[in-house]
Amino acid sequence: MTRQLTQHDDRAIVWFDIDNTLYSASSNISHAMGTRIHNYFVKLGLSHEEASDLHMKYYTQYGLALRGLTRHHDVDPLDFDRCCDGSLPLEDMIKYDPSLRQLFEDIDRSKFRVWALTNAYRPHAERVLRILKLDDLIDGLVYCDYTMQNFVCKPEPEFYEMAMKQANASDPSKCYFVDDNRKNIDAAIDLGWGHCVHFCEKGLEAMEGGKIKEIDESREPGAKENDVQRVTTLQELRSVWPEMFKQ
Ligand SMILES: [Mg+2]
Repeated sequence: MTRQLTQHDDRAIVWFDIDNTLYSASSNISHAMGTRIHNYFVKLGLSHEEASDLHMKYYTQYGLALRGLTRHHDVDPLDFDRCCDGSLPLEDMIKYDPSLRQLFEDIDRSKFRVWALTNAYRPHAERVLRILKLDDLIDGLVYCDYTMQNFVCKPEPEFYEMAMKQANASDPSKCYFVDDNRKNIDAAIDLGWGHCVHFCEKGLEAMEGGKIKEIDESREPGAKENDVQRVTTLQELRSVWPEMFKQ
């Protein structure tokens, strides 16, 4: 995987979100992540109630709790990352799925590049991709750079623009994108990304961490109508985007 500028390349790009897209939300990673983030807020001196409110508020408002923390509190993003994402026992929580690897292997590389687009920081993203055995099938990774003051994240348009720049892609109509967060999809559509799919896993309603999923599925007030395609498994992409897969 590389984050350096690649040579100009006319192939289309398929961008995969990582968390709760490449693995099932039933892994409870978002719940475990949420508990750690909550504790981090409490460590900053907030009551449990304030911590819950602020966590949800920042997540809703910025797409990422940390984005609010760096804006409104004096928080070191790298310390946050170590305490939250960095301490997750991911190896015990997600498993390699051969059918997902096969899906990636079946993408026609003469026509498509494959990139990951995540709101996590690089170590977490790379860990997940390694556990899922997808790291060798990803051409590039765009992540939130926690070392930068005021880093950007989905669904801010600047994040998508940065992603295209890093991939040296100039035509948004040739961007394919799948994400479990509806606001992230809406933002991509607003930027003219041509082929966006909202990943809506089935049967998650009763799960812990449901609050975050609820936020992920909701739209910005006043968001424009768009008839975005939904899939309930990534395998459905084979029929939604048949042009992407080897015949
Ligand atoms: Mg996600």
